[in-house]
Amino acid sequence: MKTAISFKETLEKCGLTLVRVSPQVVQVNVGKLCNQACRHCHVDAGPKRTEVMSRKTVDRIIELLRLSPEIRTVDITGGAPELNPHFRHLVEGSLGKEVIDRCNLTVLFEPGQERTAEFLREFRVKIVASLPCYSKENVERSRGAGVFDKSIQALKLLNSLGYGKDDDGLVLDLVYNPSGPFLPPPEKDLENEYKRKLKEYGITFNKLYAITNLPIRRFLQNLKKLGKLEEYMALLVENFNPEAAKGIMCRSLISVGWDGNLYDCDFNQMLEIPLGGRARTIWDIGSFSEISSGEIVFGSHCFGCTAGSGSSCSGTLLRKE
Ligand code: SF4
Ligand code: SF4
Repeated sequence: MKTAISFKETLEKCGLTLVRVSPQVVQVNVGKLCNQACRHCHVDAGPKRTEVMSRKTVDRIIELLRLSPEIRTVDITGGAPELNPHFRHLVEGSLGKEVIDRCNLTVLFEPGQERTAEFLREFRVKIVASLPCYSKENVERSRGAGVFDKSIQALKLLNSLGYGKDDDGLVLDLVYNPSGPFLPPPEKDLENEYKRKLKEYGITFNKLYAITNLPIRRFLQNLKKLGKLEEYMALLVENFNPEAAKGIMCRSLISVGWDGNLYDCDFNQMLEIPLGGRARTIWDIGSFSEISSGEIVFGSHCFGCTAGSGSSCSGTLLRKE
């Protein structure tokens, strides 16, 4: 995908040199298998995908984590991470770090997942759950029939286990992303709205992350189908925010693919752009900590991280409390 304006040149014009610093987060994509096939998915995940991280790869990641004291968070994503047969081994092997499970909620009711919620509680895994809207109609338009009711049921289950309350440290954060070619509304306002609407179901949660859809993979295909790609890119470029750009997550994050390849972020991973532009795997490094400098490979999709208040896997970059 090309735009007339280069992201790198835009940074240069603003006097911004954004390079890697010491990594704090390792984001592990354990595979593309998912029980859902959402319209906005940047992974192209689905029930028929066969890319699944092996035990050998998980073991090497655990070994590298032990050799990388600076890494404070292991962020496990997919697909639906819980469907990987080595998911629990990775969680157990990451103990001592903050562990995040990016959960789509409905997976908790898949066959074989009956004990997953209890497992997450037992290991005090932080759950970041995707719920693209509080309206049933919007959720089911992008995620499929029956997804909203199951998601509500899953949130109630997690609340019953102690997740999403303010007092016991079992964190349940939710993720919103726009259902079409527009930027997310202000995160705090939306969080208040989500809290109000979900209270009607008796559900509580901690924070809401508002994430901008990046124009790659399935979301890109949809934009093309709707004839909205140029308009969406123009929106992202017009809303470029240098203050948000300073906080882009790839400066201190390392992304690992299901096959052990290394990337600057999960988006570059899906575009098969290797970390720093040089193909490397988890077997080529001695620790994650050694990747503490060097260039990040930017492309026009990066305008999605710097538009408006900015966007990352932890939501808005310029968050107003
Ligand atoms: S967006 Fe999440 S839940 Fe939906 S298909 Fe992709 S990985 Fe699965
Ligand atoms: S898409 Fe990836 S590389 Fe580009 S700015 Fe966002 S996090 Fe960084």
